[in-house]
Amino acid sequence: MSKPLDQSRMDKIVSLAKRRGFIFPSSEIYGGLNGFWDYGPLGVALKRNLKDAWWHDMVAGHDELAAPAGAPAPYEMAGLDCTIIMHPQVWKCSGHFDLFHDWMIDCRESKRRYRYDHLTGRWAAHRDKRTFVTTDASGDDVPAELAARAQKFFGLRAKQVDEIAWEGEPTPLPAAVAAGVTLADSLGPDASAPGSLTAPREFNLMFETRIGAVAGGDDDRAFLRPETAQGIFVNFKNVLDTSRVRVPFGICQIGKSFRNEITPRNFTFRSREFEQMEIEFFCRPADSAAWYRYWRDRRWRWYLDLGLTASRLRLREHDRDELSHYSCGTADIEYAFPFLAAGEFGELEGIAHRGDFDLRSHMEGKLVRRDGDLVVETGADGKPRHRGSGKDLSYFDDVSRERYVPHVIEPSAGADRAVLAFLCDAYHEDEVPDEDGKPRSRTVMKLHPRLAPVKAAILPLVKKDGMPELAGELYRSLKRQMTCQYDEKGSVGRRYARQDEAGTPWCLTVDGQSLADRTLTLRDRDSLVQERVPLDEVPGLLRDRLT
Ligand code: ATP
Repeated sequence: MSKPLDQSRMDKIVSLAKRRGFIFPSSEIYGGLNGFWDYGPLGVALKRNLKDAWWHDMVAGHDELAAPAGAPAPYEMAGLDCTIIMHPQVWKCSGHFDLFHDWMIDCRESKRRYRYDHLTGRWAAHRDKRTFVTTDASGDDVPAELAARAQKFFGLRAKQVDEIAWEGEPTPLPAAVAAGVTLADSLGPDASAPGSLTAPREFNLMFETRIGAVAGGDDDRAFLRPETAQGIFVNFKNVLDTSRVRVPFGICQIGKSFRNEITPRNFTFRSREFEQMEIEFFCRPADSAAWYRYWRDRRWRWYLDLGLTASRLRLREHDRDELSHYSCGTADIEYAFPFLAAGEFGELEGIAHRGDFDLRSHMEGKLVRRDGDLVVETGADGKPRHRGSGKDLSYFDDVSRERYVPHVIEPSAGADRAVLAFLCDAYHEDEVPDEDGKPRSRTVMKLHPRLAPVKAAILPLVKKDGMPELAGELYRSLKRQMTCQYDEKGSVGRRYARQDEAGTPWCLTVDGQSLADRTLTLRDRDSLVQERVPLDEVPGLLRDRLT
């Protein structure tokens, strides 16, 4: 494993997530299940707020009458919710059945499994022993990890490390094997002797299931969707025929996806069950490059507007050789998660220009690129390898009188990765004066008010003298508009601390003066400024601050 940028920070975030009910391991009382996570009371509210913000900003709140800043033209957005299990042919035509796999490699000694492409190795020799040492570390950590592995293998003390003779540079294992290194000579990342790594095997990441009671034949085979996007493509015509949308327009979907990841890791970052928020935006081929740029920049700004720290975000355009065979341009929005090594970023969202690949695949059958063109892949018998639906998914533009297969721009985001990035970004430790004015350290989740699970906490200063009744009155009226909590347990300082950890932006304290003049103190989580405001104006005031 790579040595992370800030493991102690990450440990604190994971522990707060557990302690405060943001995220729990799935089926925890049975020891958990690798790659599966549950969202507790605060977590479910945070994730729902994030998905609602996406849905509002992309779909429900979209103004189709005017072109938003940077957009080539006004456009429409529609929503959709498809099934998780779809016709198996969907995955054959999309390419997932044949191509959605990783190479895995097992270690017979440690019983650990690795992604083949995640292993890096280098020849090391000491006296009469020589081996190709490997590690699953990444980035800048590789040399130190290799040295530590070699030191252990040769049985050396720390001061003898310089006696190791290294040959060549650290090389990804697949490239090393292609250049002649054998697995018999390779020392697995967690093994004590060379030769324990198995030959790499292809592994399809789609979870398979069977449909119906009498499962058995190949016809019953079905898959849990590994992305929500295909449900949108196969409903393209339904949406077009039943709503008033015209190209350019987008179809949006939020939903669960499943990938049988070989090595789920880094908290929820790489899970086996997760949620995606995907847009398929359909446009005229001639305008597609401009729409690609629009969506890339628009999605980038969305994360900034919700408060992610700009210096931890990166927009990375893929190099030509990194692009999928159908793509004319792809950019990733990435975040510097604390579990990554310095200088490394993890993907939050990919924005891909997919051309007409998807709609054509579902019309004609699985496509491959040949001599620069997309053509239907054929088997030895000359027939399509995976037959398409045969349905016409082209679009007739009744203004320009042209017919074409729209091009697609796909902004594809992960809800769980976004929640994780916002949690990591929000985590702060600082000092605040306690009730006696002495500095007290606090942990505070500086979540954007739109994302905060609880918007306001209503706290009667003491549990008597009519304060709980007045606070209860405010609680009931505010709760109709936003999520809030009533808390009368413990000192006010402790109650503030609880809300700071939950990320609640505002605390409203009802005190003796409130009974006389119906005002209360409004405490801001981040600035700690306390203002005296009329109780009856609180709902309007907070509503304004929330937008
Ligand atoms: P990675 O390279 O990190 O596996 P990917 O390029 O395969 O990601 P996409 O297929 O582009 O990811 O999926 C779109 C988005 O879905 C990703 O940007 C990410 O936010 C989310 N996502 C993909 N795989 C996972 C996963 N295993 N766990 C959580 N979120 C995921």
